Amino acid sequence: MQTELEELAAINRGADGSCCRLALTDADRRGRDLVVSWMRNAELDVNIDRIGNIIGTRAGTQSGPPVMTGSHIDTVATGGRYDGAYGVVAGIEVVRALNARKVLTKRPLAVVVFTNEEGVRFAPDMMGSLVYAGGLLLEDALQAVSEDGAVLGEELARIGYAGSKRCGEIRPHAFVELHIEQGPVLDRANEVLAVVQDLQGISWQEVNIRGVSNHAGTTPMNLRHDAAYGAGMVTVFVRKLAQRMGGSQVATIGSVRLVPNLVNVIAREAKLTVDLRNSDDAALSAAEQELEAFLVEIADAEGLIIETKRLVRTQPVRFDDRILETIEQVAAKLGHGEIRRMTSGAGHDAQMMARICPAAMIFVPSVNGISHNPKEFTLPRHLEDGANVLLHAMKRIANE
Ligand SMILES: [Zn+2]
Repeated sequence: MQTELEELAAINRGADGSCCRLALTDADRRGRDLVVSWMRNAELDVNIDRIGNIIGTRAGTQSGPPVMTGSHIDTVATGGRYDGAYGVVAGIEVVRALNARKVLTKRPLAVVVFTNEEGVRFAPDMMGSLVYAGGLLLEDALQAVSEDGAVLGEELARIGYAGSKRCGEIRPHAFVELHIEQGPVLDRANEVLAVVQDLQGISWQEVNIRGVSNHAGTTPMNLRHDAAYGAGMVTVFVRKLAQRMGGSQVATIGSVRLVPNLVNVIAREAKLTVDLRNSDDAALSAAEQELEAFLVEIADAEGLIIETKRLVRTQPVRFDDRILETIEQVAAKLGHGEIRRMTSGAGHDAQMMARICPAAMIFVPSVNGISHNPKEFTLPRHLEDGANVLLHAMKRIANE
């Protein structure tokens, strides 16, 4: 596995060691070509579908839907070497291990590479798995345009990955994705593995606050309509809201822009983003409503005009109990004891696959929780442990 991860990381590597394989660029194509060669060496039957997903299938003793694993190999502009790539490389490793022992499973197995998971160059993210699961029309995805003006369908053809297989034609019996955690929980707790039971629903809003620009020295405090003050109040409010709600609720103001943004002028405008996440959909809606009520309150109190625009709203995803239990049993049998169940704070292809088949995920630690960064690192033995649990979980599900 280490060799393959290194080979992928060496493509278009930045001076700081970062990976840059943005979806459907030449670097992505080189990564894909490598993965396809590994799949063929592992005697997988390789198919490309019309959104460019790569699916390698291994026959079982019976025909029918395969037990599928996989992830993505595209990265952000300064990505690490494990995000996505680990799940793909480990999936191929599972097949190699079975080949070496001449073990056939009852159901077929499949390893997939989904197109454009990161969504950096083309929106939306998790595009390949979304199209695969029927959540986005292929025609719409192919027409996506990047900021550099490239059309997704044309880029797909240019790099040789506009396949002919119908998206979602191979409907899996189950889907298990192995991924690095990309957060600090396992590393902090000194734990090797977790099973992911759900993913947070995400609410993104843009909040536009309009006040009145005026002189910072001559305007009395009680006569101000200060957009920056409004932005500060919202920032404090969402932090306290998340703390008060507890559970999996988190809240972030990731972007604030002031106009005119000058040292001695009261801001007439503040544009900020609010990111709210919760694995409980009702709680997430309640958080959105509380924020809305608070915005009305401060608009009134401060003489501000506040408008919101919804950018993203996704439902939480709950993974399949039977698959979760299988992963837990396999991990216990391999000597890991009782492993943690956790909520993923990041989006993953498995959440799209959960729309069409029982699905779940396995996490291994990210040292210091760092991801989307060249410093992303997971200990080799943890990579091995995760791949082993994946191997035995897939075998068990495929033989049921
Ligand atoms: Zn990923």
